[in-house]
Amino acid sequence: MASRLLVRTAVRAACARSAVPVQAMTRGMSSGGIPTDEEQATGLEKIVMRATKQGSDPYSMFKPKEYAGSKQDPHLVPSVTSKRIVGCVCEEDNTAIVWFWLHQGEPQRCPSCGAHYKLVPHELPH
Ligand SMILES: [Zn+2]
Repeated sequence: MASRLLVRTAVRAACARSAVPVQAMTRGMSSGGIPTDEEQATGLEKIVMRATKQGSDPYSMFKPKEYAGSKQDPHLVPSVTSKRIVGCVCEEDNTAIVWFWLHQGEPQRCPSCGAHYKLVPHELPH
């Protein structure tokens, strides 16, 4: 008796479920496509993306430009103060670094190899 009651209840439940149409799952982005990085970016990432598009590098994330190191084309060293410590690897295979203070003004030479360095003012983005 109890088993018959359970079977009827189960059959009714199965019939009732199949009668209700099941809606297909849809994603919110399916109508407009996948958003680009620029559309998804927020905060600092968005500021950096905009600056990169304009050609600037506000957080010095990219590889610095290479200079000849001569008096006419010195290595440019950005600094927020009037002096900065510079380390020069005079030759490519050197394991020792020559450290010296670089002051604002005229280009200075490395005391070991003679490469020229010039301090340029750098503004922080905020
Ligand atoms: Zn040097």
